[in-house]
Amino acid sequence: MRFVALLLFCLSLSAFAAQPPDSARGGYALVIHGGAGTLQQKDLSKEALDAIRTDIGRALDAGDAVLCDGGSSLDAINAALVVMEDSPQFNAGRGAVFNAEGVNEMDASIMDGRDQRAGAVAGVHRVKNPIKLARAVMEKSRHVMLAGDGAEMFAKQQGIELVDPSYFRTESRWEALQRAKAAEQPGANVVPDKGKHFGTVGAVALDRDGHIAAATSTGGMTNKRWGRIGDSPIIGAGTWADDRCGVSATGWGEYFIRLGITHDICARVRYAGQSLQAAADEVIHKRLPEAGGNGGIIAIDRAGQVVASFNTANMVRAWIDKDGSRHIAMFEEELAAK
Ligand code: ASP
Repeated sequence: MRFVALLLFCLSLSAFAAQPPDSARGGYALVIHGGAGTLQQKDLSKEALDAIRTDIGRALDAGDAVLCDGGSSLDAINAALVVMEDSPQFNAGRGAVFNAEGVNEMDASIMDGRDQRAGAVAGVHRVKNPIKLARAVMEKSRHVMLAGDGAEMFAKQQGIELVDPSYFRTESRWEALQRAKAAEQPGANVVPDKGKHFGTVGAVALDRDGHIAAATSTGGMTNKRWGRIGDSPIIGAGTWADDRCGVSATGWGEYFIRLGITHDICARVRYAGQSLQAAADEVIHKRLPEAGGNGGIIAIDRAGQVVASFNTANMVRAWIDKDGSRHIAMFEEELAAK
């Protein structure tokens, strides 16, 4: 009877995905991000801000519905990331940025903290939802990372949807590529793309069984070349989950790889006994800028504490605390207001 009531309640949540009563939820936590970058509030129109808020809110509700229903952290982060990959607002899936050849080239990874299985894909061009493929690599192959054509052959074999590359073309990303190319010209007087690190997506969840999972998906950096791959598909750099801590990162990928950022944060929690917030802040506000990098992370520990830490002007993020309260934030001021 209780189960039926819970199921009906969760169904009503997903149907009216607005702001469900906090009291009926709880016992799990979810945090998602839509990228960190140099954008400031004044750089975006109200319509643009509203569109991002709406889509990150839909992604949060998709993950929330899974967890509320007793589903796993793995299913919840998948559900949230698919919504963001399908939205043109984020630099992942549909809204992925263009590389120097004018092609969308995507990377993604996922990790299950329960047993530290992991799956990742890099440099795919036709996979509608790279996060689904990363999960299939984890669950249906003996490997951790597949790249390029081989990854797409595996996708086909697994019945994962492939689309024509034109599906990923959005005008704003195309214009960003043109600006990046113009800025490369000698003597060019073009304002560099302010949103250049903006829009990668990620999710971390703790389910009611106490399991943590984390995932990240991206189109990488505008105008990237030579098959460049960033941190997002690299376990320990862009994504990490163990039984105490899960992290998803966004930012200047080369630094996140060199510093093993997501693993470093969870290692501090595990071996040095640091709180998740202290570990994240030390890595993001000290180690990362000292090395010359920028970006941010979202994370959850096994007590369900949700953490966000970034050294950029913004990080789009949304979360459900363990007490069931729902939040969406985009800029630093909102962090202080939490
Ligand atoms: N970290 C991603 C990369 O370097 C980009 C981003 O997070 O915005 O590919």
